[in-house]
Amino acid sequence: MTETHRPIGLAVLGLGNVGSEVVRIIEASATDLAARVGAPLVLRGIGVRRVADDRGVPIDLLTDDVQALVERDDVDIVIELMGPVEPARKAILSALEHGKSVVTANKALMAQSTGELAQAAEHARVDLYFEAAVAGAIPVIRPLTQSLAGDTVLRVAGIVNGTTNYILSAMNDTGADYADALADAGALGYAEADPTADVEGYDAAAKAAILASIAFHTRVTADDVYREGITKVTAEDIASAKALGCNIKLLAICERLTNDEGQQRVSARVYPALVPLSHPLATVNGAFNAVVVEAEAAGRLMFYGQGAGGAPTASAVMGDLVMAARNRVQGGLGPRESKYAQLPIAPIGFIPTRYYVSMNVADRPGVLSAVAAEFGKREVSIAEVRQEGMVDEGGQPCGARIVVVTHRATDAALSETVDALADLDVVQEINSVLRLEGTSE
Ligand code: NAP
Repeated sequence: MTETHRPIGLAVLGLGNVGSEVVRIIEASATDLAARVGAPLVLRGIGVRRVADDRGVPIDLLTDDVQALVERDDVDIVIELMGPVEPARKAILSALEHGKSVVTANKALMAQSTGELAQAAEHARVDLYFEAAVAGAIPVIRPLTQSLAGDTVLRVAGIVNGTTNYILSAMNDTGADYADALADAGALGYAEADPTADVEGYDAAAKAAILASIAFHTRVTADDVYREGITKVTAEDIASAKALGCNIKLLAICERLTNDEGQQRVSARVYPALVPLSHPLATVNGAFNAVVVEAEAAGRLMFYGQGAGGAPTASAVMGDLVMAARNRVQGGLGPRESKYAQLPIAPIGFIPTRYYVSMNVADRPGVLSAVAAEFGKREVSIAEVRQEGMVDEGGQPCGARIVVVTHRATDAALSETVDALADLDVVQEINSVLRLEGTSE
């Protein structure tokens, strides 16, 4: 394409892992990007906290006055790569209000303030793109908003947090317990100094909210997502899962539920679950991410790749940047927020799944039938039971461990059952309650 359009001015906010890669690509691929967009992309400034001449970019590009940068007349597109929610939200709102298109990788912000930001973008008739906010390099927002725009999405399930997948994979490979696997992940740079957002499932919940909003044309925020992290997953759970032919994965699941009257609801939830080895998500290992989308006409689609890291995330940001810049050159806008369906959110108690319950019990006759009776009373049907004897530190028998795998039951029925089991004299301890996903039963 011949370049006839005036240059498109860019402001990048943040020069960290992602920002520095984005700046590098903008400079290194300037000629190709200009040809793809139909106008040169010109970096007007980079917002940082620390302005210094040792940052690998000309110092006159750097500023700590983010507000002034996003309001500059010669800036057309603001690329927000600062995180966390503030000051990013304020900077993005200001950019949109000043008629700039925005590209962001900020999942926490998009899961919390998507409505406010989308409205501001719509009002100013500019673009708001956020492909990098979910699963790094993996294209999943654009396939959902555009490629599948004419289909009906039924379910989106994914491994969308690399840190927790790395930890669970390490536990699976080495038999390590959670604390050791977390320490290793930290030493290797896969877990942050404060890993709470990852291991407690907050990061995955933010991504689930974004995916559910887009897939079901309904505004879903992180607060609507049921969330459990991986901190309680034990080496024994991993071993039991293996014996059952499963791996344990932290899943983000977004589902369209239809009841007998045809009423639809949305479920968005994040928890560690046993996944049978035959399911494509079971063998996604290490820091990799994957998302499986099930749509009425398309059937099952799988997206797999690097879900984080400076360069992979920058790839997704650059894709959005080219889209936003093309729209500036050619006219037109990208997809608006689609929230027409506004389906109600289903509480976790209504969600039917299969369960794995591990408990320590007294090793005497009648225990198994007492345990089975509690499941039966609440119509939680048992699919499989495993029992193994336990010995204490001196090698003496000290009870048994029972693992029960159920057929599909609601969370409410299962919770009642577990409470009743905990009250039984013969049950010494409920070790774990995990879900089993990815089976058709
Ligand atoms: P990072 O390495 O911590 O870099 C953050 C950058 O933002 C730094 O350059 C910092 O400036 C700047 N910054 C922070 N607060 C600022 C403020 N108040 N004013 C001006 N500049 C400020 O972060 P990152 O890993 O690149 O992540 C950036 C965003 O991408 C986050 O929203 C993150 O959630 C998202 N994301 C990251 C990844 C990933 O793999 N890293 C993947 C997907 C999405 P200084 O350098 O001067 O301190």
